[in-house]
Amino acid sequence: MNERDSEAVAAQLVARGYTLAHSESTADVILLNTCSVRDMAEQKALHKMQALIADTRRSRPGLVFGFMGCMAQSRGQELLDRLPDVDLVIGTQKFHRTADYLDDIFSGRREQVVDIAEEEKSEATIRDHLLNGNGAKSATAFVSIMQGCNQYCTFCIVPYTRGEERSRTISDIVAECRQLVQQGVKEITLLGQIVTSYGKRDIPRVNDKSGFVLLLEAIHEIPGLERIRFTSPHPKGYGDDLVEAYGRLPKLVESAHIPVQSGSDRVLKLMHRGYNRARYLEIIEKLRRVKPPIGLSTDFIVGFPGESEEDFQETLSLVREVKFDQAYVFRYSERRDTPAAAMPGQIAEALRQERHQRLLALVNEMAAERYERLVGQQVETLVEGPSKRNPERLTGRTRCNKIVVFEGSQRHLGQVMNLRVTRAGSFTLYGDPAILE
Ligand code: SF4
Repeated sequence: MNERDSEAVAAQLVARGYTLAHSESTADVILLNTCSVRDMAEQKALHKMQALIADTRRSRPGLVFGFMGCMAQSRGQELLDRLPDVDLVIGTQKFHRTADYLDDIFSGRREQVVDIAEEEKSEATIRDHLLNGNGAKSATAFVSIMQGCNQYCTFCIVPYTRGEERSRTISDIVAECRQLVQQGVKEITLLGQIVTSYGKRDIPRVNDKSGFVLLLEAIHEIPGLERIRFTSPHPKGYGDDLVEAYGRLPKLVESAHIPVQSGSDRVLKLMHRGYNRARYLEIIEKLRRVKPPIGLSTDFIVGFPGESEEDFQETLSLVREVKFDQAYVFRYSERRDTPAAAMPGQIAEALRQERHQRLLALVNEMAAERYERLVGQQVETLVEGPSKRNPERLTGRTRCNKIVVFEGSQRHLGQVMNLRVTRAGSFTLYGDPAILE
């Protein structure tokens, strides 16, 4: 989501006549878009800014520095008090004002700007794209459909930094998607902090279908669009209407990232997640029944306050039971002003690290089995661009969200093609263009 917000800000600046600098060393404006989900992300952004200021203070005194995003939102003026060389602090509902504030600073009207106010309809302002920003035509794009979250999980800072749930209209989103498809995009990923709550307040259910499913249906109608993904959903939003949509809408790919966070009911309750282990397993079972090849990924937090060894064992057993294709494992990180930060039973960092390692090892073992099962099979792949590790090769993504690397040529870029999987590496498949009988 931060990448998408950054892209929208960059597109806004390009429209005002700015050009994208190839590196910090040639830029006149450096904006760091920040994340607050974990403390480490905040510390990284602060250190990065300190280093940038130290490196350029004497040689390039006119440089403009800014913080945007969640840390900007939660710390506001405090950032300028701590780093007085920073010029701009732009909150999560003010990305669209960036160009105006830079004008103010460059024209001398204002020296510094801090804007972290709420703004009605700001959810509809993340809409500009820079599809050719890196010189290559993009076959995939992210589309922001909503902002904010009302779930208030006890560990999470997002409802405080991104605000209440606010959804764009279906027509607005469809218009953006249509335009992207006209520009050559084949796959769209819908974005939001809790996409399954899309339209909950404003869009009435139709034939027992939620606003989110109605949105999926509307986007599915766009000619030329080949694939639809979304992230992040909440297990609570996986009603039968959404499960059934996987069977009915062929453009909705066989892939779901459903954050579970813990396998223990006791911990899930402390986290205020709103579902239990049995309900989570029921969703997985239904999805696999509708779409057997579905690729499933999730997020875990280990070392949540009060998590006992028995609770942790429940998480391990959930991983064995579900056999995820991929899972992102995070050590619990106290976020200020969240209920969990004040809970008893805070777990020592060493134990969080130990559980992190144990869970990661199991996740990797299970995932390796899932990847290995695809060897010899033919997979439909959307070719995205050169492989990061070896630019001589191309990389693409299967419908079930697995990366495939293969020897290809320029003409394959942006194409949906069949590849035969020849071997499986760590979270990567290697393929050969399949020759069909
Ligand atoms: S649903 Fe996700 S974004 Fe919302 S509070 Fe929970 S973890 Fe945070």
